[in-house]
Amino acid sequence: MIFSFLLVFEGNLIAQRNCGTMAFDSVRRVEYSLPSLEDFENWLNEKMTQDTRLKSDQVYRIPVIVHVVHNGENPGEGANISYEQVVSQIQVLNEDFRRMQGTRGYNDDAAGADTGIEFYLAEYGPDGEDLGEPGIDRVYGGRDSWPSSPLRNPIETVLKPSTIWDPNRYFNIWTVNFGGFVSRNLLGYAQFPDMSGLDGLSDTNGSASTDGVVIGYQYFGSSDKGDFPDLYAPFDLGRTTTHEVGHWLGLRHIWGDGDCSVDDYCNDTPNAAEPNYGCPEGKISCNSIDMINNYLDYTDDPCMNIFTNCQKERMLTVLENSPRRKELVVNNINAIPEEPDITIHIYMSGKLLHVEIPPSQGYLSLEIISIDGRRLTTREKLLNTYNTVDLNYLPSGIYIVAFTDGTRYFTQKIILK
Ligand SMILES: [Zn+2]
Repeated sequence: MIFSFLLVFEGNLIAQRNCGTMAFDSVRRVEYSLPSLEDFENWLNEKMTQDTRLKSDQVYRIPVIVHVVHNGENPGEGANISYEQVVSQIQVLNEDFRRMQGTRGYNDDAAGADTGIEFYLAEYGPDGEDLGEPGIDRVYGGRDSWPSSPLRNPIETVLKPSTIWDPNRYFNIWTVNFGGFVSRNLLGYAQFPDMSGLDGLSDTNGSASTDGVVIGYQYFGSSDKGDFPDLYAPFDLGRTTTHEVGHWLGLRHIWGDGDCSVDDYCNDTPNAAEPNYGCPEGKISCNSIDMINNYLDYTDDPCMNIFTNCQKERMLTVLENSPRRKELVVNNINAIPEEPDITIHIYMSGKLLHVEIPPSQGYLSLEIISIDGRRLTTREKLLNTYNTVDLNYLPSGIYIVAFTDGTRYFTQKIILK
């Protein structure tokens, strides 16, 4: 009898989801003297009011780099998770964010949204180099486990700043082993987006070196899609990452991290008194049925299947306005929406690119993007009417030239022979 009691006790310890986003966020705001989360909400609300464009047809594709942090294990063992496990997580993200039919991410709720946001594993490194394993950066972390406390955590102070890839070009995810297995039940945490455009406030303010999400490797990927023995049920279907990516794009917990008097700033997610655990169908709090299948609750992985229209709107507003988030989208040619309304003449002679810019335009910045959407060069400012750009350092092939004047982006395909 005692034995079975102990089993139940251990089960209770591990069976409760805990997300560290709010705790890490409050520490970060103090350390970097950042505006409050309330300031962020005001900023986001203003942007949502201003932005009247219909975004429903737009697909946003986000390149991902997963820093697999290990302690010397072979790839595929322990914290050094396999490429296949990483792929299974990206599949789950796409199923959930696109509300794909025939997957666990589908729902037919009237409030449910296909967010139009997709994720893909980056194929090229920061210098344009081919990655042996797309989207994976294996990092020797030099320790068995990483603390789960937000205070002076070496994940924040050392690991992230020393391994992050340019957050304007990559969405950074770190998988780690959080201190010990139970580790206060911490499954993962995200860094909220920053706001922009306030006088005197830098867009970078220290946050750029830690931007991304951190997930315990036992919760990264899906048991549905392969044999990954370290994945830990009931958090073994990839929903921890879906939840954290929601935070990374500005979503709040649906109970608002408080009682019935606080909200998650979305009217289509009923107020809830507290987080829900397990999968308590039909649970009523705050005089309405809790949306326990929302990705931003604390329910178990098999229970979750919905982002709402309001959550979608918040995430897209962040993607279009927040520092680093908007850059990620701009860096993807599939997400460039607008036709140019100025005329730029370009032509090739060998590998020399000639660009003629209307004098009225002032200047344009130019960069070269690979055919599958990776930025290959840093931005080069073209100040003259007639400009020549030497592309001899690039191998032959098809490329995209992307121009911007700071507010508009447009592209042209070129062939280097
Ligand atoms: Zn959370």
